[in-house]
Amino acid sequence: MKTITIRRPDDWHLHLRDGAVLEGVIGDTSRHFARAIIMPNLVPPVVTTADAQAYRQRIMAALPQGHRFEPLMTLYLTETTSADDVEEGKRSGLISAVKLYPAGATTNSHGGVRDLDKVMPVLERMAAIGLPLCVHGEVTTPEVDIFDREAVFIETVLDPLRRRLPDLKVTMEHVTTKDGIDYIKAADRNLAGTITTHHLIINRNAILVGGIRPHYYCLPVAKREHHRLALRAAATSGDGRFFLGTDSAPHVDELKECGCGCAGIYTSLNTMSCLAHVFEQENALDRLEAFASLNGPSWYGLAPNEETITLSRQQEPVQFPARRDTAAGPVTVFDPMFPLHWTVLDK
Ligand SMILES: [Zn+2]
Repeated sequence: MKTITIRRPDDWHLHLRDGAVLEGVIGDTSRHFARAIIMPNLVPPVVTTADAQAYRQRIMAALPQGHRFEPLMTLYLTETTSADDVEEGKRSGLISAVKLYPAGATTNSHGGVRDLDKVMPVLERMAAIGLPLCVHGEVTTPEVDIFDREAVFIETVLDPLRRRLPDLKVTMEHVTTKDGIDYIKAADRNLAGTITTHHLIINRNAILVGGIRPHYYCLPVAKREHHRLALRAAATSGDGRFFLGTDSAPHVDELKECGCGCAGIYTSLNTMSCLAHVFEQENALDRLEAFASLNGPSWYGLAPNEETITLSRQQEPVQFPARRDTAAGPVTVFDPMFPLHWTVLDK
């Protein structure tokens, strides 16, 4: 039996939602992960430190008995966000990052930022106090093709912003293109990127070939194969600027299997098995720990977890449930379209 033991991983980009969905899904994360950066795009969004405090309490209340898990809270940046409130949130230890959604970029992002000039005072304060900005790196202008939105964002928004404010730490979330990978590699400081599990596994064919498959639709949308290969090379390289952010984003099936389905792929349940498969394929199992457990804490200025998890490669494929049932309805689990042999052993 082949096994690998790594420090307990963290998820540096996670959607837990709220209410019945939160209660249904949180155990899938807290079973394997010690910490996660929690996305603030609820309805209404988590805008103030007080909102984040209340949301954190709801998360902790939903945690299954016996699970230890630390939610790292973020604030949703709006054009009226107060720099003082952000600073207070960071100083109190509650707030780990602020999230920039260009207005309309993804699920529940209509309250996002339209004019960066309006949020410069907040960004300047963040640069001064060392609080990272997490960015959803896509432009939302209708003229830009959906498959080009990340590359255009880098050129027209992110690069100008970083030149204007070089002291601001920026986490480029869910990088999906070779352009994004190359841009991060070329930066000398203050830039890192998270990579999702599913973008290491699917390209855009998964969504469209042989029929339209809503459970492979997410934002940023999966790109061409050469982009997927660039993501895999970066994730398995050991480069400290790349680390896991699953962007696991549960929607009940009813909201995905319809005429205008929501964006989001639910991977929390089988992420570690999928990642072990990918890293094994790339002959990089020895770098799985860097990607899932070491590079993220180092970027966020935290110690890696002391606890470990052990993954074991089974002879027979491991069976995962196809859906996670929640009181709001079933949530389809990511199907990597190949058998998974790795499993996290129970302690
Ligand atoms: Zn996300």
